[in-house]
Amino acid sequence: MISLVTGAAGFVGSHLCQALLREGHEVVGSDNLMTGDISNLSTILDDDRFRFIESDASETLPDLERVDIIFHFASPASPIDYAERPLSTLRVNSRGTELCCELAARHGARILYASTSEVYGDPLEHPQREDYFGNVNSIGPRSCYDEAKRYGEAVIAAYRRTAALDGRMVRIFNTYGPRMRRHDGRVVPTFINEALSGQPLTVFGDGTQTRSLCYVDDLIEAILRFAAIDDPAYWVVNIGNDEEVTVLEIARTISELCGVPMRIRHEPLPENDPRQRRPDLTRARALLKWRAHTPMSEGLARTIAWFKRAVPA
Ligand code: NAD
Ligand code: UDP
Repeated sequence: MISLVTGAAGFVGSHLCQALLREGHEVVGSDNLMTGDISNLSTILDDDRFRFIESDASETLPDLERVDIIFHFASPASPIDYAERPLSTLRVNSRGTELCCELAARHGARILYASTSEVYGDPLEHPQREDYFGNVNSIGPRSCYDEAKRYGEAVIAAYRRTAALDGRMVRIFNTYGPRMRRHDGRVVPTFINEALSGQPLTVFGDGTQTRSLCYVDDLIEAILRFAAIDDPAYWVVNIGNDEEVTVLEIARTISELCGVPMRIRHEPLPENDPRQRRPDLTRARALLKWRAHTPMSEGLARTIAWFKRAVPA
């Protein structure tokens, strides 16, 4: 199998490239290094079966003689990153997804698109099933990401209908682990950074809002299983962990694991910050025979250990 991974130098993309190589794929990784870092690929850059190409997936994709599956993972993903780059975020999920579909159609390849739980917005149904249409503010501060991903999904759906493309998508719920950037603004790296540098943890709002955190290895295992199924019964699947926790619980666990007393500093809740989020994983369990098995305390402990080793303060 020859795979193309866009967003290869990012947090999830780099873990995906590594896992695909382990599975015996040849992998071409592309990235414009907007929020990613080439050092995330240091363990595989010397592998003969891996090739890295620096390019912007909104403009061009590697010119390949053969490709069997395209993983379109390029996109800013943290609220800080996409707020700083709203138009790039819209482009890579719109034009970028179209380019990936065109390439897949030319090669008769499969495509797997990294969508997100954000397509459900601030959900009015809980937990979120794949057939929920969502509650998204199309002009709010998160719209450049949420609507970009919804448009990307629509592109995949259109290519399935008009070009019989084998297009699939995973709606990824909050995933964390080694290789997140210390300052990417998402809750896990921010709290770990603050706890390790002796600062109070910045909790937005009162901290009772919820998320369900998935460890990156569990996400990657699900993606590989989904990618490998021929003719799956579903082409849209939620992936995540359905253990729902409050932001305050995340703060408490990270403080304990870092061995510091919990100190909190509250800041206003950002506009349109979803109040609660938990995936309904019925479909993933049935289709992939999979569940997220890493407990939050274990995944966070591994992530903290990596931050201590790898990330300069
Ligand atoms: P990340 O920022 O670490 O990785 C994104 C990568 O895409 C970076 O390496 C960046 O440089 C690259 N990129 C961005 N725009 C590009 C462009 N125009 N051309 C080429 N490369 C580009 O974020 P991540 O958490 O690894 O997210 C990866 C994918 O998974 C994204 O599509 C994101 O929307 C999706 N996702 C992630 C999560 C999560 O919790 N981590 C949740 C839902 C969806
Ligand atoms: N959050 C927080 N402090 C931070 C970063 C995030 O309290 O420094 C909260 C944020 O308001 C949200 C939750 O943690 O309710 C998850 O935020 P993140 O940015 O990680 O992901 P998303 O909002 O995209 O789910």
